[in-house]
Amino acid sequence: MKEETYCGLVSIIGRPNVGKSTLMNHLIGQKISITSRKPQTTQHKVSGVITLGEYQYVFIDTPGFQKRYINKLNTLLNKSVINSLSDIDAVIFVVEAGSFNEGDEEVVTLLPKNANVFLVINKQDKIKDKQVLDKFIKQVSLKYPFKGVLVVSAKQHFGIDELITEIKNVFPRGEFLYPKDQLTDKSSQFLCAEIIREKLFRYLGEELPYSLAVEINDFKLDGELTRISATIIVDKENQKPIVIGRGGEKLKKISSEARLDMEQLLHSKVFLQIWVKVKSGFADDLKFLSQFES
Ligand code: GDP
Ligand code: MG
Repeated sequence: MKEETYCGLVSIIGRPNVGKSTLMNHLIGQKISITSRKPQTTQHKVSGVITLGEYQYVFIDTPGFQKRYINKLNTLLNKSVINSLSDIDAVIFVVEAGSFNEGDEEVVTLLPKNANVFLVINKQDKIKDKQVLDKFIKQVSLKYPFKGVLVVSAKQHFGIDELITEIKNVFPRGEFLYPKDQLTDKSSQFLCAEIIREKLFRYLGEELPYSLAVEINDFKLDGELTRISATIIVDKENQKPIVIGRGGEKLKKISSEARLDMEQLLHSKVFLQIWVKVKSGFADDLKFLSQFES
């Protein structure tokens, strides 16, 4: 007799910086989505997939819904958050323990009626006082008829297994969408580009990374080695020296950190070359923007 299987599409939403990408990485146990302290680092819908027994979880990480930097790109990013809420089986709504603000309120208004929404209160490690935490849990629990409320610390891998156990209860019966051993639907190339983008967010100023793009030009196995050539595309000539840094220092740092992450991801030695190229006006180019639409 054929085994019954269940497959759930799970969207992870929340305002920027609450720890959505970190949570997803811990849910699937591998560094797949990128993390940083700046809002909307995640510009693509990244699906992470895990299969446990007869249950397959397909996670969709979304960019943080935010209104701080309004331009065409952000408008599209916000739209993709809204789109990610249709046709899904469960929503993980992530908030930061002790801090519920108008950004979170905004996300609550996006939650579809009658959806299976789980409230995940992340960064519990930051609140030492149990009474304060209990009060916060009570207050936020009332914002929506949540299917479940969980307190976790993504960074410390606390409460993750409980979350995995609980959300599967709402999964419908269905065939697996991905092979059992697949962790993500994105190619290694894509993940390597994401790693470089993460470093750009980490080492460049507040706004510049929003107008950069990363392309992988070459990706090939050469014996024990993976040879990767990538291009960082900047919008304006004067952005180029900022990315490269004095004496190439900045690019060297970005490149060597990215290489280490890639080696971990690919389980192979990596030879990485990164180029910086100017392509003016591309940040507002619609063709460029359309890659973020879903
Ligand atoms: P996102 O914008 O919602 O995807 O948030 P990220 O996953 O990029 O995380 C934003 C910041 O919060 C990063 O600096 C994380 O290291 C940090 N963070 C994530 N989870 C936790 C946690 O459980 N505890 C603490 N203290 N920090 C966390
Ligand atoms: Mg993120």
